[in-house]
Amino acid sequence: MVNCLFKSRKSILTWPLRLTTIALLAFLQISDPTYFPRIYYRLTDKLSETKIEKQLEKDFKTNYVGDSDETAIKNLYAKLLIIQNENPALLEHVKRIELLSRTVCDNSFVKAFNRNVGVARLNNSIELHYDYDINTLAHELAHIKYFNTSKKSKEKFNSLLEDKTNELSCTWLQYKFGKELPFWKEDNSFGPKYGYINVIGALDDDENLAYYVGAAYNDYAYPWNAIDNTDPAYKKVLNYLLEEQFITQKQYNKICSYAEF
Ligand SMILES: [Zn+2]
Repeated sequence: MVNCLFKSRKSILTWPLRLTTIALLAFLQISDPTYFPRIYYRLTDKLSETKIEKQLEKDFKTNYVGDSDETAIKNLYAKLLIIQNENPALLEHVKRIELLSRTVCDNSFVKAFNRNVGVARLNNSIELHYDYDINTLAHELAHIKYFNTSKKSKEKFNSLLEDKTNELSCTWLQYKFGKELPFWKEDNSFGPKYGYINVIGALDDDENLAYYVGAAYNDYAYPWNAIDNTDPAYKKVLNYLLEEQFITQKQYNKICSYAEF
């Protein structure tokens, strides 16, 4: 009888604990859907380290964690080399690159909550999903470089453009936790307007900068051929990006020729 009572009390006490644990795990999965695979990759990194991985870490002065598939690492190496040859300043601050395999990204627990092909974190690490392209890589590296720029430079960038969030169909929080992409209310479009490269950029200055830098690596004219080249706002952003070494003179010239500035 005594045992029975003790057991029942213990059970009453542990239920709130179990529920809290489940709620915390659910919150973690929703806010950071690749957290557990990344931890696994980090724990097993030394066991799966290959020659090409060591070469990549040495040549780009960064730490590689993730998919041990040689082809995937070679592809990343080739993309990093293009960026290093174009603009080494973009690689200055990245401390860790985490590449998630197709198996990880297609796992239903990850897939259900994930909407990114890349993520940049304040600890100077970037996460890439197997289907990323050079544009995504440059985008995430631009975030890292921007995290490391001076406060004065950030203030300068943040004051370049007029706030146009009222022209958008939803707020940043609604975008972040909803399923819909925002659009420009004026014409239901998603692309460049008022100096912003797209609607996500209009919701968040950091994203605007990163999308500009990513698009500088496009081997086609969009979005530059879609911007209103009579609006001086775009040139203000491009001049800032060139001055702060987010893009190179060669890229600046290419963009200006696509936009017919
Ligand atoms: Zn971004």
